[in-house]
Order: sequence, then C-alpha cells, then structure tokens
Amino acid sequence: MIVDRQGRRFRNLRISLTAACNYACTYCVPDGKRLVAAQDELSAEAMLRGVAYLIEAAGIERLRITGGEPLVSPKLDSFLRGVSQLGLADISLTSNGQLLARKLPLLLECGMRRLNISLDTLDTEAFRSIARGGDLATVLDGLQQARAAGLQVKVNMVPLRGQNLDQVLPMLDYCLANGFELRFIELMRMGHLARDGNSFQRQFVGMPELLGMIGQQHDFTQASAALDATALRYEIPGQGFFGVIANESVPFCRTCSRLRLSSTGWLHGCLSSSNRHYVGDLLDKPRHQALPALQGLLLKALGDKQEIAFSGGATVMKIIGG
Ligand code: SAM
Repeated sequence: MIVDRQGRRFRNLRISLTAACNYACTYCVPDGKRLVAAQDELSAEAMLRGVAYLIEAAGIERLRITGGEPLVSPKLDSFLRGVSQLGLADISLTSNGQLLARKLPLLLECGMRRLNISLDTLDTEAFRSIARGGDLATVLDGLQQARAAGLQVKVNMVPLRGQNLDQVLPMLDYCLANGFELRFIELMRMGHLARDGNSFQRQFVGMPELLGMIGQQHDFTQASAALDATALRYEIPGQGFFGVIANESVPFCRTCSRLRLSSTGWLHGCLSSSNRHYVGDLLDKPRHQALPALQGLLLKALGDKQEIAFSGGATVMKIIGG
C-alpha cells in the first residue's frame, strides 16, 4: 500500500465518465459553453480495467462516478454494469439530476444505493442563470422518483453571494422535508476562479456565515462523520442532517484520501495541484505490466497532495469531476 508521511493513502476514487455536460454552471465554465466529450476519452472497458488496477495498486475501496455529467455518457450502462462486479465497498454517483428519472431504472438495476444531486436553488430564474442548461422541474421530479425508489440522496449546493444566498434556508427546509441531506459546498478556487481572485471573493460565502444564517432558523449540533470525510455534519434534532464542505474555512487536506481519474486517462492526486499523470496507455496493458508502472505514478500523485490547505487549482471541475 502506498502511504505518505502524513499517513494518507488513496482509498476513494472519483472517476469522470465524460467531460461532457448538459449544464454550463457559472462557477464551473466562465464562457457559458457546454462542454462536449473529448475526442480521446477512455472507453468503458479501459475505465473498468483502470478501476480494477487501481483497486489492486492503490487499495481503492470506494468509487464515486462523476463528470462532466455522468448521466449523459453513452458509456454509463456498460460501465455501471461492469463496475458493480468489482467488489468495491461502495459505489455512488454525482449528477445534476437532469436525466435522473430517465436513468433511474438502470441505476437501481446496477445496485446503486446512494446519489449526490447538485442543485443550487429552488428558484426557476436563478436556476436558469446559474446552471445555464436543463430545467428545474425535471430535477425536482427526478429527486422525488429517486426518493420513492428508496435511494439515499444528498443534495449539493454551492452558496454564491448575489445569486442564491436567499435559497440557503428554503433549500435546507426542502431537503429536511424530503429526507435528503443537504451539503453546502464552499466555492472553490478552481479554473477561472483560481485566476480571477476578485470574482472568487465577490461570490464566496464561508461556513461561519452559513451556519449563522441556519442558526437563526434552526437549532443544530455537530454530528459524527468519517475520519476522512470532507464534510462537517450537523444534526437538526428531530428533523435531519446537513453538512458543509468547508474547503476554505476548515481545510481537510490532512486527511484527504481521494484520487481522481479523468475521462481522458489522467490521474490527479490533488485538486489544488496542476500535476497530473497519464495512465491511459497502461490500461491497455496486461496486469503484470500495468501494475508496477501504475504504482510509480500513484506515488507521484500522492506526493501532489497539499499538506494543510487547498490553495486553488487551474483545473476545471468539469474536467475532473469535483
Ligand atoms: N455534473 C455533475 C453534477 O453537477 O453534480 C458532476 C460534476 S460537478 C463538477 C460536481 C460538483 O462540483 C457539483 O456539485 C458542482 O456544484 C461542484 N463544483 C463545480 N465547480 C465548483 C467550484 N468552483 N467550487 C465548488 N464546487 C464546485
């Protein structure tokens, strides 16, 4: 097992099934152009071999499928069917929910139990101006269908000053009423926001302010979370839980166990590092040739992790999947 001197190792893999997305969220893509799949994206078979090799070489236990938008990918079906056979302890998916109702039968058939659905507002106009794609009612319908099917749902919301701060409490109440756990994600300095500090500062809302807003409406206490969890969890007694992924306010680099594989075959050990390591060619090789080379690259990727705090990264979330 590859472990660094802070005791960190890769346990959680995030795989970006495709860079294509049916949204163009303002904080993700500045020019508003929806991304399409890259020409050189890995096939579902290569990705499956990648996951199998990484389970062996890095000790990956949990997988999150993300994107781009994973539900738009034609690889979804064969990837999901294959990956559910690899013996992982947990497989989950992050999606914007636009195609959730349509893909739900497939997700259920492949044994998916947990979903994270990104939704920044319940206001139709604000939804349009932030997501720049899709339709709010369709997402809400997908969420209700997932709930009725018994899936465990977390909702991801990025609070943005001037755009959806008035939605913090309505979103929390909606999630509590529906049994969804709301995750506030502090805006991260990724892509254009890493280059344009003013734009980042203008929009950023930190955890203390969020908790202050919630505290005016609800009593809450801190709840337990896994040691390497990115979210701080809170319980509103008798009503449910919410969390804050406080990248800036309470950095979690010291316990980060995440590894990312992009849709074009690059390993990323840290969102805050511009280093990446190409493994696409290794995935065509047999196990005995691929694994030693992969281990060398994993060592480098682990060395890319920040010691204490996320300091920003040039990579666009859409490429490597949050
Ligand atoms: N399309 C899927 C979705 O919408 O969930 C998966 C990919 S998306 C990049 C994953 C998550 O990253 C979303 O919850 C999105 O809000 C979040 N995200 C993207 N850019 C971000 C940024 N700069 N700061 C914080 N969260 C960001």
